[in-house]
Amino acid sequence: MVPTPSVTPLGEFDLIAAYFQSRAGQVSQGLGIGDDAALLTPPPGQQLVISTDTLVAGRHFPLTTDAFSIGWKSLAVNLSDLAAMGAEATSFLLALSLPQHDSEWLEAFSEGLFALANQTGIQLIGGDTTRSPVLSLTITALGWVPAGQAVCRQGMQPGDLLVVSGTPGDAAYALKHPGSPLQSRLDRPQPRLRLGQRLRGHASSMLDISDGLAQDLSHLLRASGTGAVIELAKLPFSPILMALPETERWAYALQGGDDYELCFSLPAVHWPAVCRESPVPLTVIGYSTAEPGLVLHHHGLPVSLPTRGYQHFDSAD
Ligand code: ADP
Ligand code: MG
Repeated sequence: MVPTPSVTPLGEFDLIAAYFQSRAGQVSQGLGIGDDAALLTPPPGQQLVISTDTLVAGRHFPLTTDAFSIGWKSLAVNLSDLAAMGAEATSFLLALSLPQHDSEWLEAFSEGLFALANQTGIQLIGGDTTRSPVLSLTITALGWVPAGQAVCRQGMQPGDLLVVSGTPGDAAYALKHPGSPLQSRLDRPQPRLRLGQRLRGHASSMLDISDGLAQDLSHLLRASGTGAVIELAKLPFSPILMALPETERWAYALQGGDDYELCFSLPAVHWPAVCRESPVPLTVIGYSTAEPGLVLHHHGLPVSLPTRGYQHFDSAD
């Protein structure tokens, strides 16, 4: 996956122009790539929502991942954070550290990046390009949310329903089974931006699932000062995971990372409207409690399962 040198390497500025500036488009009411910094004009009454995420080759994606998917995924994981706030994405910056210049790799990378940027209608407005021994990509995504309407991690109330989008566990399964029909769930996640926006005014707390449903849900619980019960029999699975023994599929969903689905709480009265209007399948997987901690139930009885998800500074790393 480490890019190989091209025959006629471009300089840094030619590289930016060829693969990024040429595809970036014009910024309406602002200034994009080419100056010392970008300029944006916030729409009246909106708050700026900003998030940044780094992807390092061999750590956040296997070294065998194709360049198109790396481009797509590096933007997708950032947009997923904006989705989890209920924001509308507007633009992004790209800090690219490359071991070498490889025109074929850069072409496919920028195609993947702009495929998702164009699908979501957002623009690349700047970045940085450096050489480094390890391929690493840092994207900063920017968006807007009507002032005071962002959905945060804090806000869950005891008795709220707990809901998850899509079918968690697919990406972790794909990581373990390269070339499976679920490969695209790992390589090309779909940030749930439209869903996130529709949940404004409905969801009481929300986050995106990047490190396993159980671990990420525990962040919501801690921020909100609540607990939760998940009914394992309600977890939604894709057909491939459904065919596995239940403890195996539960482990993929609860502990597996990289799903980029949304997990949120909401008062039960909001559920019918949210469910009816959702652009993605949604499933109620449990409810929140006043008693802190995450409890797993199977057909109403408590079950003990590992719930630890991915952590960067594990001693086993
Ligand atoms: P500076 O020396 O001021 O840091 P640079 O030479 O790094 O400026 O960048 C020149 C312009 O190109 C800036 O507008 C910057 O935002 C943009 N840029 C640099 N790298 C990238 C990239 N990978 N993608 C998009 N824009 C980039
Ligand atoms: Mg720079």
